[in-house]
Amino acid sequence: MGSYLFDADGRRFLDLNCNFTTLIHGHAFGPVVEALTHQIRRGSCFANPTESEIELAELLCGRIPQVDRVRFVNTGTEAVLFAIKAARAFTGRSKIAKLEGAYHGAYDWVEVSQAATPDNWGDAIEPKSTAFYRGMPASVLDEVVVLRFNDVEGVRRLISSNAHDLAAVILDPMPSRGGLVAPKPEFMAAVQESARKNGILVIADEVLNLRQSFEGASARYGLVPDLITMGKIIGGGLPIGAVGGREDVMKVFDASAGRPLLPQGGTFSANPLSMTAGLAAMRHLDQAAFAHLEILGDIVRDGIRRAISARGAPLCVTGAASLFRIHPRAEIPNDYREVYPTPAGATLMKELTRFFAENGIILPQAAASISTPMTQPAAEFIVDVFAGFIDSHHDMLD
Ligand code: PMP
Repeated sequence: MGSYLFDADGRRFLDLNCNFTTLIHGHAFGPVVEALTHQIRRGSCFANPTESEIELAELLCGRIPQVDRVRFVNTGTEAVLFAIKAARAFTGRSKIAKLEGAYHGAYDWVEVSQAATPDNWGDAIEPKSTAFYRGMPASVLDEVVVLRFNDVEGVRRLISSNAHDLAAVILDPMPSRGGLVAPKPEFMAAVQESARKNGILVIADEVLNLRQSFEGASARYGLVPDLITMGKIIGGGLPIGAVGGREDVMKVFDASAGRPLLPQGGTFSANPLSMTAGLAAMRHLDQAAFAHLEILGDIVRDGIRRAISARGAPLCVTGAASLFRIHPRAEIPNDYREVYPTPAGATLMKELTRFFAENGIILPQAAASISTPMTQPAAEFIVDVFAGFIDSHHDMLD
């Protein structure tokens, strides 16, 4: 319940996973339970739109800059898939550019280089497109330009040398698997300018990072995307995804005057259970809730930083707002290549996760998340357990 969960043996854990950052209000959030109970008695899915779909769409369009229109789907994967297809339909081009190591779900084109390794990622200037699974079509690899996060010159060069073929650049403003590293303002500007100059759309994948602020992640980091993909928190714990964006781009989906440029639909898309749960969760995610999350996030990150420097441990922490990530290295990493673990680093992180679990905290590695029911003492407890880890693991940390 709330920010805690209980295992089959009745042990209590502070849950920093919250279903991969979905449950921003924790487990069994009262308003979501109530809204769902009410809705399930009235029906679980219909072919036609429902009021809750319109209300959730209005809420998102009202608070997220650049979202003039929105379409709901069932997962973040689907949101990314439709955003990329929309960019292709809008531009008439097929290639996309993406960041090395970034996760965007299971659409083939965004899986390229998601799991790049030191022996196949190529040089730093022009990263290679690497296959994600055996049998991945070579044509998919040819259709993806791989960029490096925070590499201002690289992004300019690679976007301009592929300018006429690219439909979109897709990026998560703070990629979790790229280390939850803050984007440099000049990197955001370089992506934006190079794309705009060449008629390429910018897709911000905010499936995870919409929680960065009341207005989302792009707004926080000065990016002005053409399309934004959403998911996780906007469904209140039920399956959801959404693609939103500029009116003229979203028009590719518009079926009001016959077959649209890009037909889009799905049997369970915008089902009223996901819509009502999402609406209840998002209505309670007001400015005060974001301020609370920001304060707790700072307590955790600052406390971890203090524990590291007081003990001179070769560790660091990244993240922002309600997200944080601990790294087995002293220097803040720049991108995915620096986040890629050494064998010793992987062993250390495994032990950190085990130690946290032993002390009643579930600590995911890529993105630990704070939920609104969490209290200040709980945030301080995270820091205490972390300090206890350093104090009891000198042998691994020397
Ligand atoms: N994009 C990003 C940035 C994500 O973090 C995720 C899920 N972790 C996805 C897309 C895919 O979302 P889903 O799991 O809902 O398909």
